[in-house]
Amino acid sequence: MEKYVGILALQGAFREHRLLLNQLGYDVKEVRRPADLEDIRGLIIPGGESTAMGKLLQFDGLGENIKELAGKDFPIYGTCAGLIMLAKDIINHSDQYRFGLMDMTVERNAYGRQVDSFETGLKIPALGQEPFRAVFIRAPYIEKVAPNVGILAEYEGKVVFARQGNLLASSFHPELTEDTRIHQYFIRIIEEYWQK
Ligand code: GLN
Repeated sequence: MEKYVGILALQGAFREHRLLLNQLGYDVKEVRRPADLEDIRGLIIPGGESTAMGKLLQFDGLGENIKELAGKDFPIYGTCAGLIMLAKDIINHSDQYRFGLMDMTVERNAYGRQVDSFETGLKIPALGQEPFRAVFIRAPYIEKVAPNVGILAEYEGKVVFARQGNLLASSFHPELTEDTRIHQYFIRIIEEYWQK
């Protein structure tokens, strides 16, 4: 089996993940239809626009196929809009299509229109001492997590990076930096999953 990480490529910032994954020895497969899920080892849900992504996921059952994979603890990492897709609850947007896999409540566009994009050096203890340059673009934050969700990073009192089993979610876009540590962290989840 090839070492492929799938990237949902219906919409949004999917191209930028390729370079970082290649540096870590993984090839990328762009996922656009159910058959594309067959030989991947993990899946990234990119940033973009979660309502648009949700609509496209419903055309040929791809969204439901991804939910089935998640039911087998398949590793999935959502960035920004991808984090919204993973959340069970969304404040004020409770009916938009999503995978609804992580026990958390998120707020979309949570940093407001005035400061819709910003960068910050984020402390992420699981990745070591060096702060991670986190790029937030019309980002959501996680308002509330259930006890089974691990908090990996907070910014100004809000959770912005979390893990539940093999599901990983960040409010920010690690693919827009040259720091491979978050992709590396996800690769470790993938490798542990496939070793079992
Ligand atoms: N604001 C977008 C949404 O609500 C997410 C933005 C992003 O992915 N950069 O879906």
